[in-house]
Amino acid sequence: MNRPQNVTVLGSTGTIGVNTLDVIARHPERFRAYALTANARIAPLLEQCRQFNPVYAVVLDADAAALLRSQLRDQGLETEVLCGAEALEQVAAAPEVDAVMAAIVGAAGLKPAMAAARAGKRVLLANKETLVMSGSLFMEAVRESGATLLPIDSEHNAIFQVMPTQFAHGLKSVGVSKVLLTASGGPFRKASIEELADVTPQQALNHPNWVMGPKITIDSATLMNKGLEVIEAHWLFGATPDQIEVVIHPQSVIHSMVEYIDGSVLAQLGNPDMRTPIAYALGYPERIESGVGTLDLFKIARLDFEAPDTQRFPCLGLAFDVLRRGGTAAAVLNAANEVAVEAFLQHKIRFTDVPRLIEAALEQVSITEVRALSDVLEADTAARLAANAWLERMA
Ligand code: NAD
Ligand code: MG
Repeated sequence: MNRPQNVTVLGSTGTIGVNTLDVIARHPERFRAYALTANARIAPLLEQCRQFNPVYAVVLDADAAALLRSQLRDQGLETEVLCGAEALEQVAAAPEVDAVMAAIVGAAGLKPAMAAARAGKRVLLANKETLVMSGSLFMEAVRESGATLLPIDSEHNAIFQVMPTQFAHGLKSVGVSKVLLTASGGPFRKASIEELADVTPQQALNHPNWVMGPKITIDSATLMNKGLEVIEAHWLFGATPDQIEVVIHPQSVIHSMVEYIDGSVLAQLGNPDMRTPIAYALGYPERIESGVGTLDLFKIARLDFEAPDTQRFPCLGLAFDVLRRGGTAAAVLNAANEVAVEAFLQHKIRFTDVPRLIEAALEQVSITEVRALSDVLEADTAARLAANAWLERMA
């Protein structure tokens, strides 16, 4: 391709979005930001428009969109401002778009990611919630449209890098026995159950190795992030629950591993910086510079491994449960978790209430098969209702 690739960055003002634009800015001859999107905070979006001059900027909130439009005009910029959730799908599926970075957080990212998959784009998937909620439908959309799906989550990107290319026909057929998902263990790796009951949002937001948005940072502290990643690995690589193992590795240097039937284990290593998986996916199959420094093994000196403790971190066990159960169970878990994380951040519940709330929602909402996106969205709504009712009973 002679012209630069047009890239839509969904969630451009978030942690992944900012890192994506950092890599794009290093390769102006290869990539052009076609559309940038944000929820409501327009100050960083305006700054991004000044730097990248995209064709479209999308803002969810109508008032914020109007304000951005007038600010862009004042500065003589030609970026057109669109507004609302449907505009996200529009800029994800537009014919001129080559690649879409799906980096909106939570269930809100599902529809635009699905639009990109259905339109046959090169989909760079950071929004793991899409696969957790609707993995079967999403993977079907990718297959039917011929989209290229590239995982951004560092673990899945690592696995993708060391997995044989023909894995789509089952792990066994390519000689793989297991995928080993590494986890830092989060800030409370050594905390007792009693201590966990009293941790504050501030403490939970202080991740030892990665700088990330607030939702995924709390998920990392409860180990729900690893649980969501187990489900993500199932859909991406066709791994059964028994073929997925979680390994606590506090240094976050090995980003994940693939175990082969001959006893080989292949790993991908690197500094914990999301620009590596982002650059890998943007450049694929070529390698391009990311701005990430080389790994200093002498400084790291040692790598440790532990088994996860699902007594202290029940969210990980819940994720394996819903994966085995199938249907809309994972969508219910995901939605209840989003409500729980928000409630914890607002000091409404304790850290240890997060898995309790999710379990309560899973008990209450009836689980159905997933035949269409509407099944997933209905489960999401029902789970949020059940979770909010639980919160009211607890208040
Ligand atoms: P973040 O909170 O930093 O950014 C979220 C982005 O989504 C922002 O641009 C925000 O404006 C936008 N957004 C939020 N709610 C929205 C809504 N309702 N509608 C439209 N846009 C909305 O989050 P993040 O850390 O960048 O994570 C983004 C996604 O990538 C998540 O799904 C996360 O699990 C995944 N991920 C992140 C990392 C990481 O290192 N940050 C690693 C792996 C996977
Ligand atoms: Mg991850």
